[in-house]
Amino acid sequence: MPLEILTIPCLSDNYAFLAHDATSEETALIDAPEAAPVLEALAAKGWRLTQVLLTHHHWDHVEGLAEILKAWPAARVTGAAADAHRLPPLDVQVSEGDTVAIGSEEGTVIDVSGHTVGHIAYYFPASHAVFTADSLMALGCGRVFEGTMPMMWASLCKLAALPPETVVYSGHEYTQSNGRFAETIDPDNPALQTRIADIATARAAGQPTVPSTLALELATNPFLRAADPAIRRHLGLASATDAEVFGEIRARKDKF
Ligand code: ZN
Ligand code: FE
Repeated sequence: MPLEILTIPCLSDNYAFLAHDATSEETALIDAPEAAPVLEALAAKGWRLTQVLLTHHHWDHVEGLAEILKAWPAARVTGAAADAHRLPPLDVQVSEGDTVAIGSEEGTVIDVSGHTVGHIAYYFPASHAVFTADSLMALGCGRVFEGTMPMMWASLCKLAALPPETVVYSGHEYTQSNGRFAETIDPDNPALQTRIADIATARAAGQPTVPSTLALELATNPFLRAADPAIRRHLGLASATDAEVFGEIRARKDKF
């Protein structure tokens, strides 16, 4: 049975996720922005928190952890070995290619450095789920704070190569403003126009736009579309490398 995954709004625009394996009754929390909504979701479901998977060290992804662990002291905390010095205390340190498990569901760790150096994603192929936090986001990507543009591009390429039916669980509700920016990069993309309309409908109804599918991101997310001839023409970068086109799109977003 695939993991049952809950999307939990936290703080003003963050998401945490609970991933539950019914067979083992293991439940993992992916990122810990805030304790109360996570503890309430566990109680509502009657799930027992057995582990926490952290994606990166930013405060809005770890701030709730201490309080969550007070309620669930046996939960095992996993995070990037590279960031162990600036993450909360870890029980398990992982790096690219390492395996994690939620019950019988095996996941692999993907290094998606760029937003931070040490940011990781967790990919669960049997459940078609990838937890990307502030690397690949719905219709966007995280700002490149610590890494380089080519590093972020290489990270996004790893995620783009996953099966298109993969569901992308990203860390923030930034999709509507991401859409306003995406239109300036990819104005003639009908799939993007459709998505922007769908986002407006979802947000007007108070619904999250996360998760999304990788297929939808590949069709509409400008940060995955650096190879697209129309985008390259629009940016006047017909002969640049894909990494250079990505870097230009990211730089424009920073100023948007
Ligand atoms: Zn972050
Ligand atoms: Fe964040």
